[in-house]
Amino acid sequence: MAKLLRVNMTDHTVREDEFPKEWERFGGRGLSAKILRREVPGNCDPMGEFNKLILAPGVLTGTAAPTSGRTSVGGKSPLTNGIKEANAGGQFGQKLRRLGYRAVIVEGRTKDRGTYVLTITSKGPELIRADELRLMRTYACAEQLGKNADKRAAFLMVGPAGELGYGNASVAITDLDNRYPTRHAARGGLGAVMGTKGLKAVIIDDHGTIALKAEENDDYRKKISDFVTTWRGKKNAYAKGTAIVVDMASEWGNLPTRNRRSGSFEGHSKINADAIFATFETRGGGMHNCLAGCIVQCSNTIYNEKKEYVTSALEFETLALLGANCGVDDLDAIAEFDRLCDELGMDTIETGAAIAVAMDGGVLPFGDVAGMRNLFAEMEKGTPLGRIIGSGAAVTGRAFNVERIPVVKGQAVPAWEPRTLRATGITYCTSPMGADHTAGLVFGGTKSWEGLAVKSRESQIYNAVVDSSGFCQFQEPPMEAIAGFYSACLGETISKDDLRNMGWEILQDEWAFNRDAGYTRAADHLPEFMKVEPIPTNKMVFDVPNSELDKVYDLNAK
Ligand code: SF4
Repeated sequence: MAKLLRVNMTDHTVREDEFPKEWERFGGRGLSAKILRREVPGNCDPMGEFNKLILAPGVLTGTAAPTSGRTSVGGKSPLTNGIKEANAGGQFGQKLRRLGYRAVIVEGRTKDRGTYVLTITSKGPELIRADELRLMRTYACAEQLGKNADKRAAFLMVGPAGELGYGNASVAITDLDNRYPTRHAARGGLGAVMGTKGLKAVIIDDHGTIALKAEENDDYRKKISDFVTTWRGKKNAYAKGTAIVVDMASEWGNLPTRNRRSGSFEGHSKINADAIFATFETRGGGMHNCLAGCIVQCSNTIYNEKKEYVTSALEFETLALLGANCGVDDLDAIAEFDRLCDELGMDTIETGAAIAVAMDGGVLPFGDVAGMRNLFAEMEKGTPLGRIIGSGAAVTGRAFNVERIPVVKGQAVPAWEPRTLRATGITYCTSPMGADHTAGLVFGGTKSWEGLAVKSRESQIYNAVVDSSGFCQFQEPPMEAIAGFYSACLGETISKDDLRNMGWEILQDEWAFNRDAGYTRAADHLPEFMKVEPIPTNKMVFDVPNSELDKVYDLNAK
């Protein structure tokens, strides 16, 4: 019997509920939306007692479907004040599914200011007080938790940023080896929801469990082998990681530079995939997968000049936001900042955007690596300046009277530039997730804005499905293939049209939550400067009229 695990942080109790049959087809983002819609008032305080944090693996997570082990983290976002889902790799979700749980629901908020750790094993869940972990960096926390846990245990945790209630706070998950907390459900400040509830970490140990039922199914096994054969017959676009797009982004005017004053960075060749691969040659490191069963292996491991491990998962978005957008072309410095974001439990996008806004406001010059290091120290100490930067780009912009604040609904715009990629800009305006490229990234659209809303809508539907399945977006599984996996796994016929309807239902749930939170269509817009200030590289502004945006909300609009 599938279960929901409820953890009440107000009275420190745990309880198991039967998983509702009607939600069988929903996992990850879709399941998180169902739970939040039913159980959380849209107008609640994101940091208050009535918000809930949802940890939900995908429908296929825990099975051998390739690259399907993602875990969604959901809740009401302290940044957007609306619904939020962010997902990450690592082994947490696969282990949770093998222990029979479809989701963990963290409720309430501790009243004793204590720090707690949840342990989930085949013997059941247990919540224990662990004040010694308070404000501990994530790497040290993982090491500490590892001392008393089986070496097969994975960890999910928040860093100091989450405990201090920062809007840039992420939820970290340990990697494939269950050691380094490098995988982050980063966007929307969900780490602050977990941290302010008093939950520092979750230890998950599936030792002694057996494989999920789908594994014994011949049809499912055949689907897996056919999919892998087809996939391996194509070129892996991410064989060199997501950094492969740095040069192309700069050429198109898509690489945010100096708080988005430009879309092309003169130092792009120093922070691109070739620069990263050059470090592999001389220092060590290389490409790897962040979860068992990933066939894409887009993640890198970065070493410094002394051949010491620095960080992993140095992604395009991080290179863009903590690099070009801050005027930094020093790859080692960006790797160091990526590690600091991992250590403090922070979203590299929100953090890089906030620092660049501070630079624009005269707090420090663009390209000031030492000054950036100092800002990380201020955030860790919780000084007034650190709290402002940690609160995100919107708060930082207001605090320093900056005109150019690149946020939508309070959340920083990711690297992909909405003035150039106007369909992606439509996603940023209309997605229930706010400005989030993972909600519907669409390339093209540089010539005319006509027809772009439909492309954005279909991409938003597709991404809602993928983020509910457990698949990683980088594998780009076709809808038909996902439908085949669902049918074989759940033992019922599910077509790609059924999946499309499910994706639309998920969006409807999320928009309804946001309406209850107080959102109207008036909030569907990009910051003003993006409508009037052209990108120097291509002279484009975001000029899509509201009548086009409206088409996202109409499934029949062409
Ligand atoms: S494709 Fe990359 S991010 Fe996705 S699961 Fe694999 S290594 Fe992790």
